[in-house]
Amino acid sequence: MSNKSYQENEARIPDIFEGIQVNNCKNPKCEKFGVEPLIYKNLYNSQAGSKRDPNYAISGLAKGVPGLKCKACNEITPIKSNYSIEEEKQRLSAYLIASPLSCPNESCINHNLSIIEAPDSYYKFGQTSGNQRYQCKVCRKTFSSGNKRRSQKRSEVNKSLYKALMNKLPVKRCCEFLEISPQTYYRKVDWLYEQALGFVRERERKLLRSFEMKRLYLSTDRQVHTSNWTKRDDKRNTELLALGTADNISGYVFGWHFNFDPRVSPLQIESETIELGDYDRPAPFRKHARLWLERDFESAQRGPNNTIQAQGSIQADIAAKYQSEVSRLNTEAVEEIDNTVKPPSNGMLVHSEYTMYGHFQLLNELFANTEKCAFT
Ligand SMILES: [Zn+2]
Ligand SMILES: [Zn+2]
Repeated sequence: MSNKSYQENEARIPDIFEGIQVNNCKNPKCEKFGVEPLIYKNLYNSQAGSKRDPNYAISGLAKGVPGLKCKACNEITPIKSNYSIEEEKQRLSAYLIASPLSCPNESCINHNLSIIEAPDSYYKFGQTSGNQRYQCKVCRKTFSSGNKRRSQKRSEVNKSLYKALMNKLPVKRCCEFLEISPQTYYRKVDWLYEQALGFVRERERKLLRSFEMKRLYLSTDRQVHTSNWTKRDDKRNTELLALGTADNISGYVFGWHFNFDPRVSPLQIESETIELGDYDRPAPFRKHARLWLERDFESAQRGPNNTIQAQGSIQADIAAKYQSEVSRLNTEAVEEIDNTVKPPSNGMLVHSEYTMYGHFQLLNELFANTEKCAFT
């Protein structure tokens, strides 16, 4: 096979991943709405020769930003990585999986080996307040599932702290009012966070198993959160976008998702990107397509501001989107990156459209047994 024909048969659109293929016509009025594209430029068939995709063509939106052009309605949508969407969905749904117990000693080699994966690395060590207690065979540290709860002294403070948080009491005032140190404050906030995750996990796992509904009426909205949690001398803010969907009747919110992944290390992601030669590939073909890589950020800061305002409702954005569909660089992105905004110092910003896709993929799973979901 010559080099040319090999290239012609390289994937032009990211392949379907875990049942996800978002690269299709998104115009609900078009007959090709949701029709899957051909992954390869030419589909070779020994009898009929090559066959071109009758529905879509590739149309570059900008350097390194390939678009998918629908041949029926001529709309162009930016091509996305299905793999990265699944990855983002995994991140957003991580709360549904309880983290298994392992040795709490961070310098111990068993720290990353859970009692489920490696039961032979631990001894059973009696019970404490009804919880099974374990001992690490390496460092001899003992622990149980109830550790965090019991270490809470003055637990009456938790309820007051929770109320204070809900009423947006500033940190300093809160510490004065409850007579606790800032250190205790942050430890308790972390503890409350763990409890909240546990609560949501219990509820929504039931939802996954047995929730059946004929119809759900939902509303999706998003907000911009501006944060300046990093260095005092750096006046630039970090902007995070949050996306949530609520049930209109009960007000229950299914996720409030930020386009920020606190678990990844920018250093590690950057070096992997360079090693894989991913900066030379169009964005949707990179391993870390969902993350704001250093060079993306720099070029976004330099380049013209082609993205729409982050503020405002989804409906307004959709209206705006259809007005300037073809002229805009990236129709689904909402971040505004200029030199007053900087990337967070820990973790990495996620391209907001990936968080949006991940959010809806998760909802799709939660409402698997719902006959019809109406977004109002
Ligand atoms: Zn179309
Ligand atoms: Zn240990």
